[in-house]
Amino acid sequence: MSGMIKCNKCGGQNSSSIRICEFCGGILEVEGKSLNEQLSELDQSMEKLKSFPSPGILDSVKNNAKISMPILSLISLFLALKINELFYLSFLIFLITSLLSIFKKKTNYLKEFKLNKLLFNSQLASLYGLYSKDPTTNTRLKQVETEFNTLNGLYNKSKRFELLMYGFLIVLFSVSYFIPAVKTETEINKEATDSEMINLEKVDALLSQGKINEVTQILNEVKSSEIKIHILSKIQIFNLKTKFSAIESKISNQDYDSAVNELEQVQWKKNSVDFNQETIEESYFKNYILLKTNVNNNLPENQRIIVESEVDF
Ligand SMILES: [Zn+2]
Repeated sequence: MSGMIKCNKCGGQNSSSIRICEFCGGILEVEGKSLNEQLSELDQSMEKLKSFPSPGILDSVKNNAKISMPILSLISLFLALKINELFYLSFLIFLITSLLSIFKKKTNYLKEFKLNKLLFNSQLASLYGLYSKDPTTNTRLKQVETEFNTLNGLYNKSKRFELLMYGFLIVLFSVSYFIPAVKTETEINKEATDSEMINLEKVDALLSQGKINEVTQILNEVKSSEIKIHILSKIQIFNLKTKFSAIESKISNQDYDSAVNELEQVQWKKNSVDFNQETIEESYFKNYILLKTNVNNNLPENQRIIVESEVDF
């Protein structure tokens, strides 16, 4: 009879779709793979599944280097341009790793696990279908299935880690892309200069009223180095004007010797510490020369002193 298998133990005729004898429970011998061969194939598939690495977010980054490394190098580049030049170092490292990962053939563990899992499941299903009525085999298959479920749990965890990693990279990328650039000292000073320019008018008004203390207070409050040098120069001009008018009155009283003596002692005190400040202070220095020359010209010609010129600044 075709399609039927005869039991070697009891001689009963069984359907070819089963491997356990319906009459005596013995294992039916057929052409092709034996039960033991099939079980060892299942074990081999299980061994492959066991070689799957334990999950972790760093493993996800490494396993997906072709995507994660270019993203990480872009993030580093943004941070280097906006926050700190030190990020160029990590940019370089990630860039090199990105390039290397293109040429490196990397195993995708998740994909490989998925393929092995399909094979294992079909092997297991086939064994269950044919031999589940044999208690020994059934127990054995149940054990293997439990073991598989543990590994499958790890696989699912890895998939979640991979999602987490992509989420993390997207957040990091967005932050580094949208984060505003840290302002340089020059930019901060420029903003301060623009916003504190208004103080110069106040200083002029206060000085014209002789309120030097209030001017000093403004000087202590301003942040721009340019505004500071403006105020310092204005104060100096204010004090020099007082001196000059004292000398003028000596000249009016024809006290020339004393006037000459004092005029010779008058000097400009330079406050600039950088080029920007010097450019500003120079205009005040020119004003000082003008004022000093005017006083000097009021002296009798033979008593006049040599006043500094613009190049003396
Ligand atoms: Zn039998």
